[in-house]
This record gives sequence, C-alpha cells and structure tokens, in this order.
Amino acid sequence: MNNTYKFDAVIIGAGASGLMCAIAAKKKNKNISVAIIEKNDRVGKKLLSTGNGRCNLTHRDISPDHYRGSFKEQSTYLFSKYDTNTLLEKFKKLGLLCFCDNEGRYYPLCRQASAVLDVLRFACERLGVNIFCGENIKSVKKAGKNFNVTTENTMFVADKIVIANGSKASPKLGGNASSADYLKNFGHRVIPYSPALCPIEVKSDILKSLKGIRTTANVSLIDANQRIIKSEIGEVQFGDKTLSGICIFNLSVYTEKGNCILLDLLYNVSYSELSELITTNQKLFSDFTVDNLFTGIFQKRLGQAVLKTCNISNFSRKCGELAKEELNNIANAAKNMRFPVIQNCGFELAQTALGGVVGREINEKTMESKIIKGLYVCGEAIDICGECGGYNLHFAFASGLNAGENL
Ligand SMILES: Cc1cc2nc3c(=O)[nH]c(=O)nc-3n(C[C@H](O)[C@H](O)[C@H](O)COP(=O)(O)OP(=O)(O)OC[C@H]3O[C@@H](n4cnc5c(N)ncnc54)[C@H](O)[C@@H]3O)c2cc1C
Repeated sequence: MNNTYKFDAVIIGAGASGLMCAIAAKKKNKNISVAIIEKNDRVGKKLLSTGNGRCNLTHRDISPDHYRGSFKEQSTYLFSKYDTNTLLEKFKKLGLLCFCDNEGRYYPLCRQASAVLDVLRFACERLGVNIFCGENIKSVKKAGKNFNVTTENTMFVADKIVIANGSKASPKLGGNASSADYLKNFGHRVIPYSPALCPIEVKSDILKSLKGIRTTANVSLIDANQRIIKSEIGEVQFGDKTLSGICIFNLSVYTEKGNCILLDLLYNVSYSELSELITTNQKLFSDFTVDNLFTGIFQKRLGQAVLKTCNISNFSRKCGELAKEELNNIANAAKNMRFPVIQNCGFELAQTALGGVVGREINEKTMESKIIKGLYVCGEAIDICGECGGYNLHFAFASGLNAGENL
C-alpha cells in the first residue's frame, strides 16, 4: 500500500448525489474533511449526458407519485425538506440559474449540462473537497469504529462513508452493481437492479413493418387483469422489436411480467366518431385498395398495420368490399393496438434502474443506514426510481443534500 489517507467522511462516487453530498457536508461544517473516490478518470460523466446534454435537473411537481420502489413512502419526508424551490435555491447559491419549460421540467438557463457539473465541481474545489479519480476500489470494510476503503495503491480511512456510486444503468457512463455489493457486505438487503427508463421489448408480428415510424398516441400499461397501471399521451417510436419514446420510458418504470401495452392511435377521437370517419373514408375511397382506407388519417404503413391486426392482409381487396363488422373491428384496433410486454431493454439503453438497498433499512431523516452506524446511502443506490422529467436527478440531489447535511 503506497498511501494511507484519513478523512472524516469518504464518499464513493462523484456523480450527482456524491458531489452534492460533499458540498452539503462542507457547507454545513467547513472543518469536516471530505473525500470523494471516483472510478472514472473524471467526475460527473453521466451528468453531462443527462437531458440530451441539457440536464433536466428537477421538475415543478416533485412528489412520490412519480416514483416507484421501496423508498417511495419515505421520499415524502425528503421531498418536503428538499422541494423544487429549495433545490433551485441551492443551485442558485452555487451560481446556476435555471428555467422551467412548458411541461414543468427545469434546465440550466444556458441549456448546457456542463454548467450543472461545473458549478458542482467549482464548489467542491472552493470548499476543499478532496477528489480522487481513476480509483479502482478493492474493498470497503468496517474496521473498529472506522471504515477502510482500499484501492489499488491507497487506503482511505474514514469515520463515515457514503455509498453514492449509483446503479447498473448506463455502464458506458460508469454504471455498475458495486453499490449493491458493498451494501450487501454490510448486511443490507438489496433488490437486484433491473433496467428502467428505457425502450420496451414487445411481442408483435406487425412491428417490423412499422420500424422507424413515430406517432402520437395515448399509451397505457395494462396488467393481466386488464387494469390500467399507467396511462400517458406522447410520441411512440416503433423499433424492430421495441416501442420507445418518453411515454414508453415512463411505462418502463412500472412494467411487470404479463403486462401489455395498449396504444390508442386516435385518442382525441371517440370510437363512434372514428367509426363515422372510417365509414366516410370507405365511401370516398371505395374503388381503391383497402390499404388506402386510412388515407388522410395515418401514415400508410401504420394504416396497413392496423388492418393486419384485424386479419386483413389481402390488400388487393377494395375499400368498398369491407363489411360493416370489419369496419367496426378496424375502428376498435386503431383505438386498442395491443403489444404484450416481453421485457425492458437492457442496462445499456436504460437511464436509470429499479432496485437497490431496501427503503426501510435507510433512515430518511439522515440517509444513514439503520444497520451500520456511520454508513450513509444516497442516489440510485437506493431502491427508488422516478419517471422522466427531472425526477431522478431531483432524488439524487435531494438525497445527497440530506446525507451531506447529516454527516
Ligand atoms: C443518458 C441519460 C440521461 C439522463 N437524463 C436525465 C435527466 O435529464 N433528468 C433526470 O432527472 N435524470 C436523468 N438521468 C438519470 C440520472 O442521471 C441518474 O438518476 C443520476 O445521475 C443518479 O445519480 P447518482 O449519484 O446516484 O449516480 P451517478 O450519477 O451515476 O453517479 C455515480 C458515480 O459513481 C461512480 N462509481 C460507480 N461505481 C464506482 C466504484 N465502485 N467506485 C468509485 N466510483 C464508482 C460512477 O462512475 C459515477 O460517477 C439520465 C441518465 C442517463 C444515463
């Protein structure tokens, strides 16, 4: 071992929650010595990719309703202590101005994720946070009253440690399961990570023909008893085997085995209005082939796919030949296009993950472990996952603040 360092607190992971935790700790008590150990060669790599490079850092409407996971109930406390305005105020004090878009999402005024990272980095430097990048952690152990974090060449000894090294989502940006490993070694129960906020792989014969098409739909996730789990209006992108788009990402937070995705392709038109529209089109295009039935309503390939789901695949028939019952089926299919869920796509495409340390083992008032004194957890290492819109970064920052202020 080449070096041994002693700190009051060592934070593992220099992402959103870890950087905020370090800043909060130093702001609360400037005499505390804080170090962050980061495995990447630079801090906050994932932050730079957030919000398509613009960083959607919070939302106007932060509440547990937009989250899933065993920490959901406890997040009520966290979000009342660190609500949207509190977080925006904290960032303002670090030098960051933000704006809110029409959908309630907050971004930096300059629309650059790098600005969020820069104000966090500069604050760490100003406050004297010690940052160690490119460190490959070999072990994290309790040694008497202290914690020992051992990397290839260095031993970090700390009174307190913070697990802020995220989840398995997006391995290219640093995602891995090490937080779960460390927490399990300390005796915590950890729910295995599974990808979320990602495209959903579905079972379908028509998907291949729809590849590349985008349409706006009312998208619902349905359970095996046909109950709606979650519904949302948004743009759906059809892939080879997948459905994608922000509304689909949001459904991916809630998917379970046996679920189905239902698309209402004409959500602003009632079933009877659509029946009338189709009947009118049948008359207008009566001498044209059936694949022209949705002319003026859908993109051609989408119209054809609707027909195929009604077992109408012989496109040499004429619109005028369609029977009344077939027209009813077609209207029904356009408002209820079904895609049985196979699974969420993998961690590579996931913006976040379900799973992590179970909520009841963490004290939400401090983010301290209820099992090991001096061990704190924040960010995605905890079993809570938010929808798109700034909810995940809000949780990362809020939990980081809470841990830091309680170190
Ligand atoms: C492409 C993309 C876009 C996103 N956009 C948004 C958005 O606009 N809004 C939003 O709210 N959320 C967004 N998210 C989700 C958000 O980025 C995460 O929820 C958030 O960063 C989680 O913060 P964290 O601190 O828990 O983990 P991270 O930010 O992932 O930080 C963890 C850090 O720990 C490091 N680390 C991992 N293992 C170790 C180890 N063993 N030793 C040392 N260091 C380690 C990692 O390298 C990383 O730097 C996006 C995610 C992705 C992938």
